[in-house]
Amino acid sequence: MSFRLNHVHVYALVHNKEVALFDTGLDISGSFDLLKKDLESIGQDIESVRVIYITHSHGDHCGMAGLIKKESEAIIHLSAAADESNRNYSQTDLLILKMKKFYLSHGLSEHQVDNTIEVFSATRNIVAQFKGDYCLQPNEIREFGAWQFESIFTPGHSNGHICYCFRKEGILLSGDTVLPHITPNLSPDLFDEDFRPLENFLASLDKVASLPVGKIYPGHGNVMGNVQARVQELHVHHAERTQLVLQCLGTTPKTAFQVALGVFGNDLPDFDKFLALNETYVHLLDLKDKGIIKEEQDGDILVYTVQ
Ligand SMILES: [Zn+2]
Repeated sequence: MSFRLNHVHVYALVHNKEVALFDTGLDISGSFDLLKKDLESIGQDIESVRVIYITHSHGDHCGMAGLIKKESEAIIHLSAAADESNRNYSQTDLLILKMKKFYLSHGLSEHQVDNTIEVFSATRNIVAQFKGDYCLQPNEIREFGAWQFESIFTPGHSNGHICYCFRKEGILLSGDTVLPHITPNLSPDLFDEDFRPLENFLASLDKVASLPVGKIYPGHGNVMGNVQARVQELHVHHAERTQLVLQCLGTTPKTAFQVALGVFGNDLPDFDKFLALNETYVHLLDLKDKGIIKEEQDGDILVYTVQ
């Protein structure tokens, strides 16, 4: 990938001449050919893909689902929330309006919002249009050849995120819920005000930690053992982040963006400021829900104050 994450994993299960894919990679120049080549290296091809299981609706994970389906008639599985999110975020004009309203109200300037929309739109161009064929239920058991796996609903990094658990083998395909080295980015769902990214994410981590798995195959990065230790690190990270957000909020009312600059510093490109604002906002939202801070309208913008 051209983004900082550098790569995304596509996992394949093979049974006779049939393939199940878990995530698809993104639709950028060369990526479809690369997937083809990789499948050929294990004696398969795109036409052998029977089923696609998607972890979540971010473009790097589902961007090629539509292209693969075109050549193989593969059945695309995902959660109903991920399918809806994919539909919502494809409505470019509405999305731009929502982004403008949300990010201006949280303290970004017009110029910063415009730059952010430009970069964000590019991240949507990596998704070839598709819609899901089958919406998975929580803890649904699916089979492929001799393999059996279960859909574990793990919202947080994205509304509608699913991990796939192979209980017998003690393996979890974790998508972006648990990653090595980096903490999965948390951001609001602009189409669902009730979505609580941080609260959901922490609960999903506990769900993952309770699974009988010894190995995690993440969406990015290397295979991880010691699942509980990684989950604990992510909990500690967010507990510390919450404290830092409160510290940067201080005693005077501030916008989410002002707090974000305190947490992440000012020396960031516009798109990173946008990510910093998202991360800060989900912590402020959680603190607001817990009654620790309050949110008030000040003209066109929203400010936060410790209660
Ligand atoms: Zn993601």
